[in-house]
Amino acid sequence: MSELNNGAAANGGSSLFPTYARYPIALVKGEGSWLWDDQGNKYLDFMCGIAVTNLGHAPKPVKDALVKQLDELWHVSNLFHIPNQEAAAKLLTDNSHADAVFFCSTGAEANEAAIKLARRYQQKVKGNGRYEILTFAQSFHGRTLATLTATGQEKVKEGFLPLPEGFRYIPLHDVDALEAAITDKTAAVMIETIQAEGGVVPVDPAYLQHLSKLCKERGVLLIFDEIQTGMGRTGKLFSFEHYGIEPDIFTLAKGLGSGFPVGAMLAKGELAEAFSAGSHGSTFGGTPIATAVVKATIETLLSENAAGRAAETGEYLMNELRDKLAGNPFVKEVRGKGLLVGIGCNGPVAPIVAEGQKRGLLVITAGPDVVRLLPSLLVSREEVDQAVSILASIFADQTAAAQL
Ligand SMILES: *Cc1c(COP(=O)(O)O)cnc(C)c1O
Repeated sequence: MSELNNGAAANGGSSLFPTYARYPIALVKGEGSWLWDDQGNKYLDFMCGIAVTNLGHAPKPVKDALVKQLDELWHVSNLFHIPNQEAAAKLLTDNSHADAVFFCSTGAEANEAAIKLARRYQQKVKGNGRYEILTFAQSFHGRTLATLTATGQEKVKEGFLPLPEGFRYIPLHDVDALEAAITDKTAAVMIETIQAEGGVVPVDPAYLQHLSKLCKERGVLLIFDEIQTGMGRTGKLFSFEHYGIEPDIFTLAKGLGSGFPVGAMLAKGELAEAFSAGSHGSTFGGTPIATAVVKATIETLLSENAAGRAAETGEYLMNELRDKLAGNPFVKEVRGKGLLVGIGCNGPVAPIVAEGQKRGLLVITAGPDVVRLLPSLLVSREEVDQAVSILASIFADQTAAAQL
């Protein structure tokens, strides 16, 4: 029997590809910070579909906008004007330095658009033939062929050769390597301000400043992948606001649609002309339904001061974790920004995630040794206290068991 057949058999008779190592839970209902499974068990959700449901589950203003739009119009081609799309784009440009928005449906697709725009701007507008995209070790940018190539982790590339050309990787925080890697072939540098999938690793602000300055000096575009850090998650609407840097291009997806599949690529005005009619497109990008949801999501993030709350609650959560986990030999460090938080540990954390599920708390990993916490930006102090208390008891029990 082939390896693939074994895999399918091990998939429990499911008709799906075994692309995910699924937890033994089927969630069927969600409200605010809470989820329920098909057995009636209740969970406190500190993963939010991996930083997607930033306003919690089924936020009322977004649901109302979606239901209203469902009654009016679902889909038309981008060959027509789409008023919701214009309005959603205007909200994004009014609340950032960007001047132009391209809507798509996923994060990988947003990064693809960013890579294409950077190349086309350098080649068509600047006429300099630059095509290379520099990215960082341990980065994550998606699963399409171009974005898995951009990703600085070998595991996502296994078995997919040959990969597209024109990508190079640099070790994070190595200034000399960065300066040496930028050549007259470099079109853009793409970076996450906090490597989220890579282990919740915040990039040093001084390094980001230096990168931004270097890109300007050398005619290289700076792309920020804000797919996980955006939409209020780190305590600002977009994480670049923390550093006073205005990337030429940035990408959004996860928190942009409250769970509806949407992505966006945003850029400064001078880059907009690089895309002309026919140079890029997506059937489902920015449909009337999708952009009704985006518009309501952004309006609600702003009216609820979700980013400000994420900053405050994040400080509280990290302080509580440091306090309640202090002295635990398995815990190395609590780090993060806003409500993108990692607990760096001295060993594999999968058992902690599994135990959390048994005790009614959903968290995820970020690499093998980091527990990642991504609650709703509107999570209450009481809910944070509950999560910290569950985590503290799990870490304490695990350490006690290890010492037996
Ligand atoms: C999730 C993620 C992506 C990929 O988004 P998809 O919607 O899964 O394609 C890209 N970059 C970062 C930083 C992400 O967290």
